[in-house]
Amino acid sequence: MNFSSYGSQFSYLSQIRLVASVSQTLESGFDIYITWQEEYAGTNTLGTSQAIYEPPCTIINNTITLGAKTKTYILNEVDMQNIAIHELGHALGLGHSNYANDIMYPQYTPRGNVIALSTLDLYGISVVFEWLSHYPYIPNICPSKSSISLPFYVQYEYLPISYENLPPPTPPPYKTLLDFILGLISSPYIIVFLLLLTISLIILSVVIWRAISTKETSEDDTLVLGELK
Ligand SMILES: [Zn+2]
Repeated sequence: MNFSSYGSQFSYLSQIRLVASVSQTLESGFDIYITWQEEYAGTNTLGTSQAIYEPPCTIINNTITLGAKTKTYILNEVDMQNIAIHELGHALGLGHSNYANDIMYPQYTPRGNVIALSTLDLYGISVVFEWLSHYPYIPNICPSKSSISLPFYVQYEYLPISYENLPPPTPPPYKTLLDFILGLISSPYIIVFLLLLTISLIILSVVIWRAISTKETSEDDTLVLGELK
């Protein structure tokens, strides 16, 4: 929507709609699926985008898989969003950028901020979706070029990020023992923890009680035997 304002020739971009749904089961009928896995074992891969396409150039379905951590680093909300947007860029038909500050740069360095989309990213999208500017749609039109740089009338800059598109803040680490206990109490796992603790204490009490009563019985037996002698 924002990039449409760079020129009326890009107004067709406002036809693109992303309708999201969150589900624990696989719902059919979506164009793009995003799923998470804990780690790409033994690699530094953070995410992949797997397209199914109809020749010559129509992506009909795309599955994005995101990793939650690498061998040495656990990704936070900001990293997750940056990597998800990168993979979403692939799902929309973008390749990699050779400019290190772009979201489509092939390598990611953890940072504290969400990477803004650049006019280069959006110009790339406008080339991929140029077919939307033709009406009626002509099937199987491929993008006019497979590699682009910004035209002279579009300046390289970042597009603004609206507040609702920022990820929720990552909670700060526990500072004191009191913070830890308060965090534990407010956690939904505390009930399970207390239940397990209670069961463990009951089992321990029964075991101790039985051990004591067994000892008392065997002492009585010894005493009886002694009297017989
Ligand atoms: Zn990539």
